[in-house]
Amino acid sequence: MFDVKQVRKDFPILSRSVNGQPLVYLDNAATSQTPKQVVEVISDYYYRYNANIHRGVHKLSQEATDAYEKARTTIQTHFNAAHPHEIIFTSGTTESINVIAAGYASILSKEDELLISALEHHSNIVPWQMLCEKTGATLKVIPMTKLGTLDMEAFENLLNPNTKLVFVNHVSNALGTINPIKEIIDKSHQKGAKVLIDGAQASPHIKTDVQALNIDYYVTSAHKLCGPTGVGMLYGKETLLKELPPYQGGGEMIASVTFEKTTYADLPHKFEAGTPNISGGIAFGAALDYMNKIDFEAIASYERELLIYATDALKKIDGLKIYGEASEKTAVISFNVGTIHPYDIGSILDQMGIAVRTGHHCAQPIMDFYNIPGTVRASFSFYNTFEEIDVLDKGIRKAILMLQ
Ligand SMILES: *Cc1c(COP(=O)(O)O)cnc(C)c1O
Repeated sequence: MFDVKQVRKDFPILSRSVNGQPLVYLDNAATSQTPKQVVEVISDYYYRYNANIHRGVHKLSQEATDAYEKARTTIQTHFNAAHPHEIIFTSGTTESINVIAAGYASILSKEDELLISALEHHSNIVPWQMLCEKTGATLKVIPMTKLGTLDMEAFENLLNPNTKLVFVNHVSNALGTINPIKEIIDKSHQKGAKVLIDGAQASPHIKTDVQALNIDYYVTSAHKLCGPTGVGMLYGKETLLKELPPYQGGGEMIASVTFEKTTYADLPHKFEAGTPNISGGIAFGAALDYMNKIDFEAIASYERELLIYATDALKKIDGLKIYGEASEKTAVISFNVGTIHPYDIGSILDQMGIAVRTGHHCAQPIMDFYNIPGTVRASFSFYNTFEEIDVLDKGIRKAILMLQ
């Protein structure tokens, strides 16, 4: 097990104060904090070898290209993809999903069906709605249960030979539910459907093997796993990515250009038009290195303890209701207290230096299911402590006294 006190020294931001109180950062599901080791990789790039990649013959350009491509290999190894060119750098989960959605616009027809889970983030809903509008395909929804899990029986009944694509998040950002993606993938494949897994909320907690799970597409953002904002990845099986048309046209994604005809570059460049977020890509690799050094097994078991401790503490608070009680979940607690508006609790907690998120968490359909406007969400990371949970517990109790 790692030493949390030692780990926290890697994150200078964790020792600042907010409103006169020590910061208690519990908004990790929205974005994680960035360790010094990753920030230094970014500054090192700008201080020493800032240059555009792939096109230069000069030394700096070669160094930048090498570092960027090394990061791609680090990401490939982490997710156990078969080839580095199956890892496409994007600006994040949202863009990765849009790359796939745009590609399928020329592949889908009216008879086709897309199957989406009720637990999705808006970024894994809206691009598919837009795609259905364009193509005439139908979007169907796998319903959820009160516990915040997917109704797997309904899922099987919805699957049929017209189902072309299935979209499920690996972990729900609003509730923390870990979805049974292996089962979903296997059953979808039996009907000939491809599966896109939104890994944005899973990848900070779970090391995913895309080959072992036979995943078709896996997407995530670096900023949820100790990396910077504005960079993420799209993993796709080579055969599938080859069939998809490019997303954007421009430099870097071409093999040759004339005014009569342009031919596209091979993978991964076909999907990487223009100058990318170079330092971000390099830092994405550094963030995975950092987390792998701490060890994902150790992270998962420590966060599990935090979750159990926090759940036990918060359940003792009168009138507090937790949404999402799947047996398999990450360290996320979404809750409300009586009829108090989540925003009011969040604002008072902020006065005490405690950062939580309030609202619908970009998952309005889940809030509609529970018939609530939103929740307060406390989401934990490996650098959080049991003492911070005590502060949260006290803070919520104080907020209730002030609001009732
Ligand atoms: C954060 C998140 C997204 C969106 O990620 P961006 O980095 O904003 O593109 C999508 N899905 C889930 C499950 C998320 O947690």
